Amino acid sequence: MRSFDYIRVDQIPAALAAGSKPETRFLAGGTTLLDLMKLNVERPVHVIDISHLPGLDAIEVGDDIIRIGALAKMSRVADHPGIKDASPVLSESLWRAASAQLRNMASIGGNLMQRTRCTYFRDPGAYANCNKRNPGSGCAAKSGINRNHAILGISDACIAVYPGDFAVALVAFDATVVVRGSVERRVPVDRFFLLPGTTPHREHALAPGEMIVAVEVPRSPVLKRSHYLKIRDRASYEFAAASAAVGVELADDGHTIRDVRIAVGGVATKPWRLHAVEAALKGKRLDEATLRMAAAIAVSGAQSSGHNGFKIELTPKVIARALMMAGDMA
Ligand code: SF4
Repeated sequence: MRSFDYIRVDQIPAALAAGSKPETRFLAGGTTLLDLMKLNVERPVHVIDISHLPGLDAIEVGDDIIRIGALAKMSRVADHPGIKDASPVLSESLWRAASAQLRNMASIGGNLMQRTRCTYFRDPGAYANCNKRNPGSGCAAKSGINRNHAILGISDACIAVYPGDFAVALVAFDATVVVRGSVERRVPVDRFFLLPGTTPHREHALAPGEMIVAVEVPRSPVLKRSHYLKIRDRASYEFAAASAAVGVELADDGHTIRDVRIAVGGVATKPWRLHAVEAALKGKRLDEATLRMAAAIAVSGAQSSGHNGFKIELTPKVIARALMMAGDMA
């Protein structure tokens, strides 16, 4: 057992002041941090309990923007009638994540900050060589069992998958992360998560001492007609082998794609937006052959590391299927 300072704060300025110390972690629902502390992966000196900060659990479905406070519980957001109506993909991505118990505890901010499930990352006792945990030490997964690892966005230093579902939905629909530090700033979700490159230990754009206070999602017709499809090894309480967050808006003729959004999860090192596939579909007829042809673009540039080659075949199928479901074709 490692000792650490536990500090409970009840105001944001106090949280930010306490959070600016080195070796500090914010604690909300605890479903990631406590897990990783028990595994000896996270070893904070100071743990700042922010779970009682006032005003950060609000869910507001406005005419133009959906704003979800960082401390809102996953289960509450998933079940919110306004969220379900305006943005099915947000609700579905949350309901298909984790277990009921975890969804009742885990916060939206913590959900974004969850860390990879790479087995080698999570077992420091057995594997010293993990660049994400121990920069410069190598990557055990590249020559190990890498069935669950990424095919998109990988680098020589790291091939770990970003494990979340909700952030995949967020990146598909141009959401923004609202961050509070010495000032408040808004970071597009696509820029919030970082590619591993040569620095896989840097996973997000938060500066030391900054905290997530909310996410904001612009409302749109394409968000209203959205869907999250998650393919996994078992029906629940499992991470994605491949997933797709999609939305389709049709023109007045009822079959031409006016707008479309696509992002994939379970296959990339960060939530992965597919602008090229979207561009290939805009203005085209919504039919199965067109969807499958465009979806194939998603894996141009994908790389297998050995055991995960099946994802190159699976990913376009998941995208096409998700779009058919969003378009009421399946
Ligand atoms: Fe570590 Fe990334 Fe390699 Fe996993 S894939 S062992 S997280 S460096």
